Amino acid sequence: MNEHVIIIGGGIIGLLSGRELLARGRAVTILDRGDLRDSASTGNAGVISPGHAPIPTPEVAAKAIRMMLDPRSPLYIPPRPSLSLLRWLLSFRRACRPAHFRMSSEVLDRFSKLSRERFEPLIEECPKALEPTGFADIALTPQGRDHLDHEAERLTKSGFNVEFRTGDELRREDPSWSDDVIGGLVQHDGIVARPDDLIRHLAQRFEADGGILRTNATVENVHLEGGCFESIELADGERIQGGTLLVTAGIWSSGLARDLNIRIPMQAAKGYHVMIEMENPPRMASVLSEACIVVNPMGNQVRLAGTLELSGINDRMVQRRLDMLPAAADRYIHGVRKARRHSEWNGLRPCTADGLPVIGPVPETGNAYLATGHAMMGVTLGPGTSQLIADCIDGQPLPDWAQPMDVKRFA
Ligand SMILES: Cc1cc2nc3c(=O)[nH]c(=O)nc-3n(C[C@H](O)[C@H](O)[C@H](O)COP(=O)(O)OP(=O)(O)OC[C@H]3O[C@@H](n4cnc5c(N)ncnc54)[C@H](O)[C@@H]3O)c2cc1C
Repeated sequence: MNEHVIIIGGGIIGLLSGRELLARGRAVTILDRGDLRDSASTGNAGVISPGHAPIPTPEVAAKAIRMMLDPRSPLYIPPRPSLSLLRWLLSFRRACRPAHFRMSSEVLDRFSKLSRERFEPLIEECPKALEPTGFADIALTPQGRDHLDHEAERLTKSGFNVEFRTGDELRREDPSWSDDVIGGLVQHDGIVARPDDLIRHLAQRFEADGGILRTNATVENVHLEGGCFESIELADGERIQGGTLLVTAGIWSSGLARDLNIRIPMQAAKGYHVMIEMENPPRMASVLSEACIVVNPMGNQVRLAGTLELSGINDRMVQRRLDMLPAAADRYIHGVRKARRHSEWNGLRPCTADGLPVIGPVPETGNAYLATGHAMMGVTLGPGTSQLIADCIDGQPLPDWAQPMDVKRFA
C-alpha cells in the first residue's frame, strides 16, 4: 500500500489531498514552486460557503456583455485576442443555461455538504484558523434584497440553514453597518477561515505526519513511459519517480496536464484583496452583495477581497480595480475608506467554463490524477475533494453524483 504519491502544488487542494493520502498509509511528497505564502489558497477571502452557486448562472448570461465591457464591474474581461478565451466564453455561455445551472448547483450543493462535514475535525484541530460562526450576505438596494430572497429560497430548498435579518437588526448587533444597509441573509453553515493560518497549519501538520514537502521546487516536465506516469523533472533537472502523480497546481494544472496528453481548458480569474486596519472592525464576516466583495475581519485588520477579472495568467496589479474594494465597501461599513491600508495582493482562481471542478484519473495513464478547477470555492470544497481524489487513487470510481466533475469530460 505504501505506494509513493507525488503531488504537484501545495495550495489548499494539494495539502488536504496529501493529508488524506498520508492518513490512508501512502508515502506522499508535495512539490511547490513557491513558499506557500502567495497562492490563491493563502490570499483568498476565507469564507467557506456551502451551497455557493457556480459562476455560470442564467443571471450572469443576461448581464455578461455589459459586465464584460465595464472595467468597474466585479466581473470584467479586458478585450484581448485569444482563441482559447473565445472558446471558453462560448462554453461558459452554454453553461449558463437553466438546465446546466440546475445540474451543476446540485453537484456543488452535495459536494459542499460533504466538505462541510469533513471540516469538523479541522475546526477542532485548528480553531485559530477556522471558526464556524457563519457569515452574512448583505444588501443595500431593493435589487440586492431580491437577490437575497432568491438565495434564501434556493439555499433553504437545498437544505442549508439561513436566516434573514433587517438592516436595523443588523445594526443593533453591530453598529459598524451603515444606515444604507437594508438587510442581510445569515448563512449559519458558513465557516470563516484565516487562510494564511490554515495553510501554515496544514503544511506543518503534513510534515509532522511524515509527508515530504519541498518548496521552491518547480516542476518543469512530467514524463510518461508507455503512456503511464513515470517521473517529474524539476527546473534544475532533478528527476523524481513515483508510483502515482496527482496534479493540484491550480490554474497551472492545465499546462502540466498537456504533458499527460489531456487538454483542460481553464481561464484564470484574477481576484484582489486589500488588508486595512480598523479601530472598530465589523464583527461578522460578510459578502457585500451588490459589490461582490467579501469582508473578513482578522483581529484589528480586515480583509476586503473580490473582483473577477479574466485577463490571463499574470500577476499585474490594476490599481483602479484594487481601489474599487474599499470604495465600494465604504457604502456598507462605516470608516472603511479612511482606514489605513496595510497590504495588497492578487491571485488567480482556476475556472472551468462549465463551473465545475475537475477531479479524477487522467484517462489512459492508469496512475495520474487531477484535482483542480475549483474557481471561487477551493477552500469550501477542499476537504470533499481530498476524499474523492484519495478514493480514486485507491481504485474506486467517482460516485454517480460526482460524475459531472470527472476529468474524462475533457478526453
Ligand atoms: C480574491 C480571491 C478570493 C477567494 N475567496 C474564496 C473564498 O472565500 N472561499 C473559497 O472557498 N475560495 C475562495 N477563493 C478561491 C480559492 O482561493 C481557490 O479556489 C483555491 O485556492 C484553489 O486552490 P488550489 O490548491 O487548486 O490552487 P492554488 O492555491 O493556486 O495552489 C496551486 C499551487 O501550485 C503551485 N504550482 C503551480 N505550478 C507549479 C509547478 N509547475 N511546480 C510546482 N508547483 C506549482 C503554486 O505555487 C501554488 O502554490 C478565492 C480566490 C481569490 C483569488
